[in-house]
Amino acid sequence: MFNAIVGPAKRVDMSISIVAPVECKESEQCFNSAQFSLAAALFFVIFYNATFFEHVIALIDLSSFRGVIFIANVSLVLWLLTAIFIALATLPYLAKPILSVLCIGGASVAYFMDAYGVVIHRLMIQSVLETDYSETRDLINMNLLLYMVALGVLPSMLLLKINLRYGNFSVELLRKSKFIAVAFLSCLTLILSMSMDYASFFRNHKEIRQMANPLNFIYAGLSYATTNDRIIEVKPIENDAAISAAGKAQEKPTLFILVVGETARADHFGINGYERNTTPLIAQQNIINFPKVISCGTETAVSVPCMFSNLGRSSYSDSKANSQEGLLDVISHAGISVLWRDNNSSCKGACNRVNYEEMQHLQVPELCTGRECFDEILLHQLDEQVASAAGSKVIVLHQKGSHGPDYFKRYPQGNEFYAPVCKSNQLQNCTKAEVVNAYDNTIRYTDYFLNKTIEWLKSKGDYYNTSFIYLSDHGESLGENNLYLHGMPYSIAPKEQKQVPFFMWLSAGYSAANHIDSDCMRDLSVNPYSHDNLFHTVLGMLNLQTHVYDASLDIISRCKRLF
Ligand SMILES: [Zn+2]
Repeated sequence: MFNAIVGPAKRVDMSISIVAPVECKESEQCFNSAQFSLAAALFFVIFYNATFFEHVIALIDLSSFRGVIFIANVSLVLWLLTAIFIALATLPYLAKPILSVLCIGGASVAYFMDAYGVVIHRLMIQSVLETDYSETRDLINMNLLLYMVALGVLPSMLLLKINLRYGNFSVELLRKSKFIAVAFLSCLTLILSMSMDYASFFRNHKEIRQMANPLNFIYAGLSYATTNDRIIEVKPIENDAAISAAGKAQEKPTLFILVVGETARADHFGINGYERNTTPLIAQQNIINFPKVISCGTETAVSVPCMFSNLGRSSYSDSKANSQEGLLDVISHAGISVLWRDNNSSCKGACNRVNYEEMQHLQVPELCTGRECFDEILLHQLDEQVASAAGSKVIVLHQKGSHGPDYFKRYPQGNEFYAPVCKSNQLQNCTKAEVVNAYDNTIRYTDYFLNKTIEWLKSKGDYYNTSFIYLSDHGESLGENNLYLHGMPYSIAPKEQKQVPFFMWLSAGYSAANHIDSDCMRDLSVNPYSHDNLFHTVLGMLNLQTHVYDASLDIISRCKRLF
């Protein structure tokens, strides 16, 4: 069935030439393993990576020469890395079966990435393997079958026609080693030649690596097969959460909104004394502002799970947070309904066991452009959600906020208050003023969105005691010391990446029902706080009793006047 032929073991005179011991028939086209690896890798790069290139191109400034060179560089690196993997798999008797599996796997991965925008990682492999028959049946459609035929079956049949020529063991080992060494060194050279571009691009768009087909599912599959925490046991942190007597005695249920901001730095908020009044609307609301707040991490994947855990920054780790329940679980246990609405990449595990709505792929024409939506989408049809359940409710709105580098895409045209703006995602190509203008427009739009959210809460005042918190996950560098974006290691991160905006709005009904002394709140608001305070402050705001609640970290507790 397979045309791979292993040559008989014989001594090879390496000093003369590397000659395969098996000749092809004259009528046949033969490939050695290196040629085959390069050709097969090129085939994968061209036909299986539409989503990968679509995302890369969308994030690169193609109008600049450097952007074009970077895309060419990334394409070559993807080709060479794929070829290295295929070279490792190009073994007698095994090459064609392995390549067929890659074609069929790659075809289905290409379909799901192209159609649903999914990226492939270890947990995705786990969920695919745990998918039951009815879920699988629901996913099958004509387009998937077309992908499977065009990119799976036909290339596999083509493989049968190809003749692979192998040398004996030592010849093949030498050829493969040379090929892999040259390909690897070429990759390294390409990456080092644009190391700054690679560092900022892949640090800020980690998900792109998970779109490189077929390397993504090979890596995810190996990661799944070798990881020993395949099924992470998530432990509760309490079993005693309940609404306190004071909470139960209130006439109206509570409706609390927590907005998790994205990449907003404190010093660019007008309410924190910024020279530009970037927050004119929330400044008019009766908010309690906390100007000195430090984040738990400098990137979303750390800050968001940390904000919703009771670990605190000093004892936080990914594995600890993943293996225990968090704030939203505690609230749910007390019988309060919780909804997480996301216009970001995900809740990073913080909402795994509560209701979740992905908003960024909705096709609401006035709020969405292509694959993305402006943050107002988070309020879309929220009335219906609130009407659907009785009792107290917590709603978390996870913004896209000021996520860079393409700040100019974060706000509608009408919200461009500061100009000219940087229209490139290569910030170093713009002037500092253009970068800051674009960024400040995102804060101005966040001001509009937060104000709209507070106004929405006010409209519910007849039925609920309403309250609100806004807290950003981390800040952003805007060119200070030639640093851009965020994600610096915490110990060396500049203050711009760690100082985050944080404020509360409490309705008069909420303050009265909870006996909040607003003068006391304003006095305390000037003290330094951190993400560590969020867990306990929210529990306190909801009148929840549990042994994991620490009143000393609850900002409001000292201002409750309970007779
Ligand atoms: Zn973030």
